[in-house]
This record gives sequence, C-alpha cells and structure tokens, in this order.
Amino acid sequence: MNLEIKNLSKSYGNGVQALKGVNLTVEKGMFGLLGQNGSGKSTLMRTIATLQDADEGSVTFDGFDISKHPEKLRRVLGYLPQEFGVYPTVNAEEMLMHIADLKGIAIRQEKKEQVEHLLHKVNLWSKRKNKLGTYSGGMKQRFGIAQALLGNPKLIIVDEPTAGLDPAERNRFYNLLSEIGENIVILLSTHIVEDVSTLCHQMAVIGNGEVLATGTPQNIQTKLDNKLWRKPIEKDQADEYTNQYQVISTYFHLGQRYVSVKSDSNPGQGFEAIQPSLEDAYFQILNESQPNKV
Ligand code: ADP
Ligand code: MG
Repeated sequence: MNLEIKNLSKSYGNGVQALKGVNLTVEKGMFGLLGQNGSGKSTLMRTIATLQDADEGSVTFDGFDISKHPEKLRRVLGYLPQEFGVYPTVNAEEMLMHIADLKGIAIRQEKKEQVEHLLHKVNLWSKRKNKLGTYSGGMKQRFGIAQALLGNPKLIIVDEPTAGLDPAERNRFYNLLSEIGENIVILLSTHIVEDVSTLCHQMAVIGNGEVLATGTPQNIQTKLDNKLWRKPIEKDQADEYTNQYQVISTYFHLGQRYVSVKSDSNPGQGFEAIQPSLEDAYFQILNESQPNKV
C-alpha cells in the first residue's frame, strides 16, 4: 500500500503554475513534505484529497487511480486541511458524531465507541462537552486529528498542522501524531524543519512547485557533512560574506550573529567547522534551486 504521484502539474486561472511535474512515492509511515509558503504543498494535498483536479499526471493509492475512483479514495482518507474551520457553538463530541455520520459509519454503537476512543486518544475527553469555539489552537488541532482518524483511514493527510502552535502544544501534538502508527500512509506538510526531523522517516523538499530532494531526513542532512563552517560576524558584514563565500545562512545563537558558509575545505579567516543540521541542508537545497534568492 503506497501513494504514487506521477508527473503531476497544476496551474490556476491567474497563471500561477503551482505544481510542475511532481513525482513522489510515499510509503507507509510518516512522510514529511517540507517547503516554504507558496511552494505548492496545499495544492498537492488538495489534489490527493480529490478536492481539485490536476491538469496533468496521476495519483494512485493502493494501486487505484484516485481521479477515476474519487469516492473510493475518500472512503479511506483522513484529511486535516490547513484552514480547518470548526462550528464554534457545537461541542467536540457532537461534532465528531456528526462527522462520523458523514463518513458513513452507520452503526450507532460503533460510532459511539470510535468517538469515545478518539476523544481519549487526543486527550479531549474531559473537554468533550465544551464548545469548539472555546478551544485553544492546540486543542483545535487535536480535534482536527480526531476527525481525520474517524473511520480508520488508510491514508492521512495533514496540511501544516503545527503552524501557530506554541512549543508545549506542538510537543503534545508530536506525541499524538507519533502514535498514529506505521501501518498507514501519513503525509504531513510543513514549513517547519523541526516537524520533519522530529516525526518523519521519509521526506521531500518542495520549492516553487517542484520536488527538490527526497530521502530520509538523515540522508538529506548529510548533504553538508564536512562542508559547513561558521564565524561570528557584525551586523554590517553580512553582505561582504555573501559576495565572497557560498553563504548558507546568517543567524543568531545566544545573542551572537553568525554566518555559515559551504566550503569543501577550511576557509580560514576565523571560520570553524560545525555539524550541519537538517535546516542547514534545507537552506542549501533552496539556495541551489534559486541561486539569487533566499
Ligand atoms: P503552500 O501550501 O506551499 O503555501 P499553495 O499550494 O497554497 O502553497 O500555493 C502554491 C501557489 O499557488 C502560490 O503561488 C499560491 O499563491 C497559488 N495558489 C494557491 N491556491 C490558489 C488559488 N485557488 N487560485 C490561484 N492561485 C492559487
Ligand atoms: Mg499551504
């Protein structure tokens, strides 16, 4: 059981080409789709969720073409969209019962058991009678996961689920997602590198509608091994380094400004070798894809 995306392209009426020949194979487990705002993540996810059609290419799940059998895909899909609206005056339990109806879980006892189980699982049992409008950002996202898990989906799509969560909420959310299990395909999009390094066994970097890299996070991280150097700099020095070196990023650490650069050998001049992170490799991948930007 996997998700195969082949040569997928999509343009919008305003001329924006949001996806340009995307090829991806997503196996069971947690797959992270990492990209900046506007890189095409939501377009890809809405297409897989059969909410919009691509112009070209195909998506197959578990061997069937989803555009030929959208209803078949929807029966096995759990989807948490990026803009997840809730009815503010309805409580969590009522809403889950209602969504269970929409998903076609017809047997009342089964519906009740699933809703109860999920409310416990996402740690909202004690808040199940509270109106959704009173929920914090983290609680809303946990509710969003509960509704996505209704009906025991085989494919789960979560679009930027951690954006806007504070560190404690994000951590709770990581724990929840990591418990979903390795037996289904989970596709998570994010612009936050930590989401991928924390949760995902497989990943892709998407930029400007194109897949720029795929692999395990470890694998992608090694891209800059023994090639990353840093040096403390002053505020007005950033430009001169950009002219002289292949700058990966300028950043602050404990109040000090640093520049990090890619170089096959020690650049001298006060640079020291550092261990590259996934974020460094990600910046490098973006740099390579648009040399004059970022
Ligand atoms: P991401 O989720 O990575 O931020 P999106 O898929 O939302 O990326 O957007 C990709 C590109 O397509 C962006 O340039 C965005 O402005 C454009 N776009 C997205 N949705 C629409 C739409 N409904 N109509 C026109 N352009 C859109
Ligand atoms: Mg998006």
